Amino acid sequence: MSASLEQGIHAFKEQIDAPVATFFSSCVRCGLCAQACLFYTETGNPEYTPIHKLEPLRRVWKQEYTFWGRYAKAFGLSKPVTDAELGDWEKYVYDSCTMCGRCSMVCPVGNDIAYMIRRMREGMAAAGHAPEGLVGATRRAITIGSPMGVKLPALQAQIRNAEQESGLKIPVDVQGADYMVLLSSMEIMNFPEFISAIARIFERANVSWTISSEAFEATNSGIQIGVSELAAELVQRVVDAAEKLQVKNVISPECGHAYFAIRWEGPNLVGKAFNFKVVHILELLDDLRKQGRLKVSSKETQKLTYHDPCQITRRGGVAEQPRNLLNMVAENFVEMPEHGTMNWCCGAGGGVSTNERADELRLKAFKRKQAQLNAVQPDALVSACSNCRIQLEEGLEENSMDIPVLSLTETIAAHLSDD
Ligand code: SF4
Ligand code: SF4
Repeated sequence: MSASLEQGIHAFKEQIDAPVATFFSSCVRCGLCAQACLFYTETGNPEYTPIHKLEPLRRVWKQEYTFWGRYAKAFGLSKPVTDAELGDWEKYVYDSCTMCGRCSMVCPVGNDIAYMIRRMREGMAAAGHAPEGLVGATRRAITIGSPMGVKLPALQAQIRNAEQESGLKIPVDVQGADYMVLLSSMEIMNFPEFISAIARIFERANVSWTISSEAFEATNSGIQIGVSELAAELVQRVVDAAEKLQVKNVISPECGHAYFAIRWEGPNLVGKAFNFKVVHILELLDDLRKQGRLKVSSKETQKLTYHDPCQITRRGGVAEQPRNLLNMVAENFVEMPEHGTMNWCCGAGGGVSTNERADELRLKAFKRKQAQLNAVQPDALVSACSNCRIQLEEGLEENSMDIPVLSLTETIAAHLSDD
């Protein structure tokens, strides 16, 4: 056995905790999870069923942790997991799973398949079987501080542009601010309007905030690739910056995985509770709305619908807030079929968009979103994740659908009241 395969199998064994063992012993192979996975429904390929994606991990569980599995292994009656097999499985564990968690919602015995994929990626990465794009993004996140290689001068340039556009000073490294804002590299480079949008909203709502020059990146490639040590290092940078600036809250921006990483995995990764609160930008905006500090003076008249980013709504619990905000800012807000916690993924999360090999499959998976949109025929599609936004724009263009994709935060900023 090669050293890397040995490391991978060792990591698999370490990942087999009580939930994982329960999953394998309780799965009744009913196939319901397959019908919930867009990679299966849009391709019809049985290899993309959620349960199949976990097969090497299941074999390691059986061979190492069950009586009959150990017996079969001892007598050479079962097939060991090989390096070539793990190489083959990259396309299931990384290319065809966004860790969207939709399959976990339908499992009759309560198996959390997205959690299992997350655990399995730890073994895959340890065995040296992770997509090149994700390996590069993780390396850049650790060495440069951003998966896209965005450095502080690039952020400073976008801040200057936002200051010119909004006429407001963007606070950087302000000690004792109430809120420290994180940004995803995609927001900084692809959607910098987000920075001036929050500056305008926070100025009107009188929110004390800052950006840290030492830890501004929100995304966590360590979680996407499946290396907890690196994921913990990235979370720790945010913790250190928040503690240094003595802020009370950290705001996760319009990025799905960033929110799940810092809000739900973060404290477990660094091994202690944060001494600040993590809020998603939509949670804060809805709180400001409730307090009467966020008001609009006009509304969008076009027909809007909302794409729920999986990690914010289904896995993050932020479902009601975007609807409250949309009802405030839109005259004609319509829901797509299967919205909210049962929304279909855009097809690009969980590192899939960083993995060029998955490009064709990712656009096939978009067909599910196309069907949802066709059912309501909106004038514009609103979302709250930059990664979703890029995938939605690409999918719409690829399918000649002329539907603009808007950020919810930016939409609110465009209709802010002067009061
Ligand atoms: S988490 Fe989402 S993409 Fe992954 S197997 Fe389940 S439904 Fe499919
Ligand atoms: S839905 Fe649950 S029980 Fe059914 S095949 Fe999938 S994981 Fe197994």
